[in-house]
Amino acid sequence: MRVYNFSSGPAALPESVLRRAASEMLDYEGSGMSVMEMTHRSKTFLEIIREAERLLRELMNVPLNYKILFLQGGATLQFSAVPMNLYRKGKADYIITGQWAKKAADEGARYLEARCVSTSKDKNFTYIPADGPEAFDGDADYCHFTTNNTVYGTRFASLPETRAPLVADMSSCILSEVYDVSKFGLIYAGAQKNIGPAGLTVVIVREDLIGNALPSTPLILDYKTHADDESLHNTPPTYAVYIAMLMFRWLKEQGGVAAMQRQNEAKAKLLYDCIDGSSFYESHIAPRDRSLMNILFFTRSEELDKKFVKEATAEGLVSLGGYRTVGGMRASVYNAMPYEGVEKLVGFMKDFEAKNSR
Ligand code: PMP
Repeated sequence: MRVYNFSSGPAALPESVLRRAASEMLDYEGSGMSVMEMTHRSKTFLEIIREAERLLRELMNVPLNYKILFLQGGATLQFSAVPMNLYRKGKADYIITGQWAKKAADEGARYLEARCVSTSKDKNFTYIPADGPEAFDGDADYCHFTTNNTVYGTRFASLPETRAPLVADMSSCILSEVYDVSKFGLIYAGAQKNIGPAGLTVVIVREDLIGNALPSTPLILDYKTHADDESLHNTPPTYAVYIAMLMFRWLKEQGGVAAMQRQNEAKAKLLYDCIDGSSFYESHIAPRDRSLMNILFFTRSEELDKKFVKEATAEGLVSLGGYRTVGGMRASVYNAMPYEGVEKLVGFMKDFEAKNSR
């Protein structure tokens, strides 16, 4: 039996995508082999990776002066690749709204002057700092921020105002809402939440930012290497690219990113309304800053939180435990989580509240 999987990542994929992959597992389109077994230089695989790129460009409305790269190494490797490739004068702004943002800044500091321009650490990352342009160094090589904070359940509802190229870690919200790509210098995301299996990392980078990497940059971390070779410099994560291609087709069938955003807003509203409408559950995050993807909630005690997660699991609502340093519950409701899954969770929350209220 399939469960409703609220994991923060690797995360649920649409059943239709998994079924399609299963049906093509032994023989992809008459090739007599699985995509997993196929050389990345074959015409068949080239068609897969080109279709993935074309669909992603269409779904996110990526302008033609941006390259889309399909890489490996996870979002974490981009923490290093970004400063190595974008270093010009040697300083960058970082907005620290959570532990991933902090890790990115710490890694940046190994290569350049990584200035923390603002942070929400004072209130345990429960809000998004609202800084005006004066907070930022317009002369910085770039300004890095995390659009959605997977661990703390916050998201930027509007973009930071800076003249420096914006660099966004979109790992946990790419394709979940409409972003104007032309406002960014670079976007990166690990695939394992909204795109497909772990092992693939997507980078969308404006062309003028490519080609000036620090001389010590390993060839494999230089965006130019991958841009010149169209993500085929070495073996890409072929099967993950194939599943991403199926995911992009699925997303298009759902009506694209704008339609998905409406659905995500509806799912998030259902959950936040349930939390706000009860005196049993609470959210620590101001409504404007709340994530649409990772929805955190707490009962009055750790003991009850643990009981909640255990009993929910028995009902087929799995991976609801909060991040280990945060506790409570976290429902990750990426694109592939159907509305019915959230309805079932809300039904369970109401039952649990009725049984456990004093
Ligand atoms: N950034 C964000 C916002 C994340 O949520 C994660 C993973 N959960 C990472 C970076 C790290 O990604 P990876 O494991 O792909 O390196």
